[in-house]
Amino acid sequence: MPTIIPTGRLAPTPSGLLHLGNARSFLLAWLWARAAGGRVVLRIEDIDRPRCRPHLRAHALEDLQWLGLDWDELAPDQSTRTEVYRAALQALIEKRLAYPCTCTRKDIEEASSAPHGDEGAIYPGTCRGKWRDAAQAEAETGREPAWRFLWQGPSVRFHDQVAGEVTVEPSKLGDFVLWRRDDLPSYQLAVTVDDAAQAVTQVLRGRDLLLSTARQLALYQALGLSAPMQWAHVPFIQDAQGRRMSKRDGDISIKALRDRGVDPRKAVGFLAWTAGLVDGVALRMPSQLAEGFDPANLSRDEFILTDAHLTELAR
Ligand code: GLU
Ligand code: ZN
Repeated sequence: MPTIIPTGRLAPTPSGLLHLGNARSFLLAWLWARAAGGRVVLRIEDIDRPRCRPHLRAHALEDLQWLGLDWDELAPDQSTRTEVYRAALQALIEKRLAYPCTCTRKDIEEASSAPHGDEGAIYPGTCRGKWRDAAQAEAETGREPAWRFLWQGPSVRFHDQVAGEVTVEPSKLGDFVLWRRDDLPSYQLAVTVDDAAQAVTQVLRGRDLLLSTARQLALYQALGLSAPMQWAHVPFIQDAQGRRMSKRDGDISIKALRDRGVDPRKAVGFLAWTAGLVDGVALRMPSQLAEGFDPANLSRDEFILTDAHLTELAR
């Protein structure tokens, strides 16, 4: 048996500046890999090319370095790997595990039988078995089809270090998109192919992706790839209105802290405190927090960020 090197990854999407919420997930992912004596892969997830910008990519790398997070390998940017993802799609088509779908978002919302899950309308399988191939789908509807995963499998079970045992019925999530109508790979397909290619063994990311792990596990199985072995989906930082931090509403960015001359150890100490890793806010470096780090001990609650916290942090 070859020895398995614990490998974690940082996977920023450069469609906006990194904010405190992203930074905290990256800090925790880094700590987990380092605590295991493992490697860290940095991968830029820019498949959504229309929304990603080169200067934001540069800022993401600078932000991570400023926080004191390093990496052992810079994986190829996802935007350079379209053909690799296309080959994976092709393999699924050949196994009859992918089918063309011409439904619009509105069609799916309106399908009377479509139940709503946590993530909005569940795709009701309208195009399953409907089209011989993409050409026929396009000829008859005048629409470029997307490709969906024919998810028939048994229920998916995995252990999450924060959420515990998770069991997901495929029918609760529905057949998901592998390839978009605008001819781009989906997040699910790209992340599965890449985590396997980069020999990632542990994934720590935001709680919003907990159910996507079930989708990805189904894809590893279908593609005959080996999946990461450990998963941790961590709570968010929210604002006082209970909204998750996002790149859109101008939440405080790491770059803004950098530009103000904030001590990065202050940001790291603050983030560690918000995650329940340490008792009080003090200057800390990531390397000082790695020993004994275990995602199972993280706070399970969303952290509410107030203006007072921000003022204190930016002082
Ligand atoms: N690129 C995603 C993000 O920035 C993370 C995806 C993942 O960790 O699987 O939200
Ligand atoms: Zn459809």
